[in-house]
Amino acid sequence: MISFESFGLSTELLRAVSEQGYTEPTPVQQQAIPHILEGADLMARAQTGTGKTAGFTLPLLQRLSVSQKNTGHRRAVRALILTPTRELAAQVEESVTTYGKHLPLKSTVIFGGVKINPQIMKLRMGVDILVATPGRLLDHAGQKTVDLSKVEFFVLDEADRMLDMGFIHDIKRINALLPKQRQTLLFSATFSDEIKKLATGFLKTPKLIEIARHNTPSELVSQVIHPVDRNRKRALLSWMIGSKNWKQVLVFTRTKHAANRLSKQLSQDGITASAIHGNKSQAARTRALAEFKTGKVRVLVATDIAARGLDIDQLPHVVNFELPNVPEDYVHRIGRTGRAGNEGEAVSLVCVDELQHLKNIESLVKRDLPKIVIPGYEVDPTIKAEIIPNGRNGNNKKTLSKHSNYRWGNNRPGTSNNRSTSKNSSRRQQFR
Ligand code: AMP
Repeated sequence: MISFESFGLSTELLRAVSEQGYTEPTPVQQQAIPHILEGADLMARAQTGTGKTAGFTLPLLQRLSVSQKNTGHRRAVRALILTPTRELAAQVEESVTTYGKHLPLKSTVIFGGVKINPQIMKLRMGVDILVATPGRLLDHAGQKTVDLSKVEFFVLDEADRMLDMGFIHDIKRINALLPKQRQTLLFSATFSDEIKKLATGFLKTPKLIEIARHNTPSELVSQVIHPVDRNRKRALLSWMIGSKNWKQVLVFTRTKHAANRLSKQLSQDGITASAIHGNKSQAARTRALAEFKTGKVRVLVATDIAARGLDIDQLPHVVNFELPNVPEDYVHRIGRTGRAGNEGEAVSLVCVDELQHLKNIESLVKRDLPKIVIPGYEVDPTIKAEIIPNGRNGNNKKTLSKHSNYRWGNNRPGTSNNRSTSKNSSRRQQFR
């Protein structure tokens, strides 16, 4: 068995690790730490939840502390960690602080949505490790309040998300501000062609590691699809939360607008709810998360991007109010429940518009998901599928024209549907 000791990490780091209660390195740590300690560039396929943050933070701290220069000059930024979202940036910096707490290294985090001046003050005092989101980092670079010319380590965390969020140009601009001679680490949940292209430009003969993808959701998560008409989803959700007396529910929507609208509607239905997404101020997001964790707010409505990196798991209920455009996001979403040996329930409210999305998800998880109609919420077979704009990739006309032919229980156009309003009083009805 590989132990943390066997990596040759300093006693300060080993102490911090054992204070966290970690007894053995996770697979991504076992593979990444030795390469990073050797000074190699690294391209790692690993998702959130695999322990990837410690996987790059521990060796980074080790290398920085061993070569710490005591020149008496102000500290220069020696390690830059880029993340797609503010939440992830905050959490990564928290990890840096946690693992580095017995070392004399300084770190800070900068992201948008909050005042820039306190960040400028912190940067002026000098930091060794800077965690940042791309936009705000470029603001600082533009104002010359950050100097990236001494960076020795560059980490791109959740690089696929950064590309999804349209940060490619920002990343390239940041890369141009960094010294050519440096160690670069790229972490991504997927290795798409775009990611490989990015890596070719940024990394030098990187070591490649791939940690098994979690395309198989935990056995502890029960998954169910409730077919329902698009305009009845919200009534069904309110009813489920109320009648089942759910106390803590994470609900996913595809867009910020839908998250806002749903959280307002739920509040009108007497269910305390907050929305969390990229357009909210950092203070509002932090407050919403805190209130959800303490139980003051029963429902947190989130978009995929906002939920990414959020330190909330072990939830009893996750609801897909809308299925994600990217099937991998489904697995990621439902991974919020059923952790650490607890049972969890993942419910998806699916309307006729989303049948292609559902098919893609079922082929990814390699199984048909059970479809149960809730009495009183049977689907109306006369309702036709409508276009779902794909916010991520812009135009996807091809999928849409194909898509509009879908019917529940039948994928061919114009044919009748096996509607669920059968006379028998069966409470549960399978759709396929
Ligand atoms: P990450 O994938 O970096 O977001 O980490 C997921 C979770 O795993 C975090 O809550 C970490 O604190 C935890 N973690 C990281 N490394 C270990 C380890 N070796 N043993 C147990 N838990 C860990």
